[in-house]
Amino acid sequence: MDDNSFYLYFGIWVVFIFVGYFLGQAKGNGPAGAFMGAIFGPIGWLLALIVSPEAKACPFCVTRIPYAATVCPQCGRDIPPPVK
Ligand SMILES: [Zn+2]
Repeated sequence: MDDNSFYLYFGIWVVFIFVGYFLGQAKGNGPAGAFMGAIFGPIGWLLALIVSPEAKACPFCVTRIPYAATVCPQCGRDIPPPVK
């Protein structure tokens, strides 16, 4: 591998990470998507869409609720935004 192909592959890798991040973000977990993209590339994008958490536990009633929820549908309390 010469220097030029190194930068080419590195650039592609960065694209994998960014696309993975945006796919993960759409599922409520950008960093996980970026990680999947970095490790697995396009396959990681699929993994990010499939396995990214879509639910979280309400901190008050511990019910599983949608990841992006800001109000718990079970107990009606405000949910703090996810910690980055
Ligand atoms: Zn709740």
